[in-house]
Amino acid sequence: MANSALNAQKATTTTGIQDIMANNRQWVAAKNAEDPEFFKRLATGQQPRYLFIGCSDSRVPASGITGTGPGEMFVHRNIANMVVHTDLNLLSVLQYAVEVLGVQDILVVGHYGCGGVAAAAANKQYGLIDNWLVNIRDVVRLHETELLRIKDEQQRLRRLVELNVIEQVRNLAKTNIIQNALRGDKPPRLHGLVYDIADGVLKDLQVDDSTAIRGLAHIYGTEVKPLVAAHHAPAPPTAKEESSHYEGALHNPSQVAAEPATA
Ligand SMILES: [Zn+2]
Repeated sequence: MANSALNAQKATTTTGIQDIMANNRQWVAAKNAEDPEFFKRLATGQQPRYLFIGCSDSRVPASGITGTGPGEMFVHRNIANMVVHTDLNLLSVLQYAVEVLGVQDILVVGHYGCGGVAAAAANKQYGLIDNWLVNIRDVVRLHETELLRIKDEQQRLRRLVELNVIEQVRNLAKTNIIQNALRGDKPPRLHGLVYDIADGVLKDLQVDDSTAIRGLAHIYGTEVKPLVAAHHAPAPPTAKEESSHYEGALHNPSQVAAEPATA
């Protein structure tokens, strides 16, 4: 690389990090002016109400779009806001958020115009990332009939973004972390949201228990009580009732038919 090109690259890099450092100093000064106890209070610990599982896309900042500040939201982000059961990062965040921090609401936040979802919808190879995108392609396979009925490509991608969020909420509900929390006193509520980059508005997909997990207990050994309004749910079955129910379902397929239908 020529010297001038090297110098130009160095200048750009230096300016970038200098901007970040200057912004930080300004932010600290503004916060201290607004509330002199702000940092002292945060340093004592955190008890966020929310866990945010969102996309890494730079246009979907967790705090900005939800109007939350430091200490209010525990955050996990990855490409296309996925809940993958072999992802130790996600599972560690989820366990800590639920079992230690005691978050009350878990938000899976997708967004229209998601590059990860668009890449998964294209029948192409991209390299290593295909191993991540395959999880979104599974959502396509599960909902192929509905998606093929949508002729407009943009509308089909928007629906895929929504279906992906619904499936990731369902994946959350399948984890033993959430299942165990549902047996506790204050289980977290699960929410599926979609953010529209074009107008900044968040839409609640109203993912209730019927779209999340109901009807799947005979396969996943999961609770069949409401997840979204979990605070008002009836008491869970005793361990004895539960085990006899699920074992019965496994050994007697006719009991499976008695489960509520999946939406
Ligand atoms: Zn995205």
